[in-house]
Amino acid sequence: MTEAPRNHVRATIVGSLPKPSWLCGPAEMFASWRLEGASLTEGQEDAVRLWIAAQEQAGIDVVTDGEQRRRHYIWGFFEGLDGIDTINLGRRPQRGQRYHKEISAARLVGEPEWRGPIFAGALRATRALTSKPIKVTLPGPMTIVDSLIDTIGGRSEEQLAFRFAELLNREALALVEAGAATIQFDEPCFNVYVDKVKDWGIAALERAARGVGVTKAVHICYGYGTSDVKRWKTANTDWSHYEHTLPLLAASSIDQVSIETAASGVDVSVIEALRGKDVLLGVVDTGSETVESAEIVAGRLRAALRYVEPGHLFACSDCGMMPLSRAAAEGKLRALAAGAALVN
Ligand code: ZN
Repeated sequence: MTEAPRNHVRATIVGSLPKPSWLCGPAEMFASWRLEGASLTEGQEDAVRLWIAAQEQAGIDVVTDGEQRRRHYIWGFFEGLDGIDTINLGRRPQRGQRYHKEISAARLVGEPEWRGPIFAGALRATRALTSKPIKVTLPGPMTIVDSLIDTIGGRSEEQLAFRFAELLNREALALVEAGAATIQFDEPCFNVYVDKVKDWGIAALERAARGVGVTKAVHICYGYGTSDVKRWKTANTDWSHYEHTLPLLAASSIDQVSIETAASGVDVSVIEALRGKDVLLGVVDTGSETVESAEIVAGRLRAALRYVEPGHLFACSDCGMMPLSRAAAEGKLRALAAGAALVN
């Protein structure tokens, strides 16, 4: 396994990469597959193969399968569980209505159950393609309950989050067994519901990560770089929620925290609260087709090195790169690795 020295800045990505046109249309938030059955599996495997090669050629240190096998970062997990209807959708307010009044949501129609590993087979297939450490992403418990219509009821949001944390934990342990180097929980809601993060969000995250013996990461962001999200980010000036959430994560068992700083205007000094943890610093904007130069990436990393040791710093994307064109995503992969190399 080729790994950078511990005093070097490394490069990785949040998770998703654009899906090739044989799988679905461009930037589909919920991929409507153009293939089915064995052809779909084959098409997804081919997509994974090309993105693993692109990450290796660029020099990315910790790779992902680009979430090529998932319709969506949350629904890919839902589809493997019992009790969730991802076909007959409803609509509900999500993310505190920050970006939209309401959006499509899967429905909880029965007791949620984990009937066996969901992504472990896919991970084994990816491992056959690369000797690089592989990260697998899972939706975090708070983000799950914010993205689901509970038609069963009888449980508080917190209780439901802990139920999902148990199921996530079983999946995470199965992924460790299958060779994951990093398990990342995606919690964009940690930037929205700051009080709930303190009251039960961190505890639910810890429950999901219990016993996970590999690197444990959490990704917090403002969502994919779509036009609605960009409008909000451009207008927002108050980033003080990090003063509340990052110290809680610093005191947790989570090893790595991914935060976006390229597009959002967040002052990089907020990461000082994460001393001792790995920081996956968002240094490329996932809402813009413009590919950052290696010098721009290096400049953003150097600014962060005032607050974090190089061995704890990763050059990373702000969020998933799913909405970008393939050419832009390939360029940003190269910029991440080249920027980290410049600093090293
Ligand atoms: Zn994100």
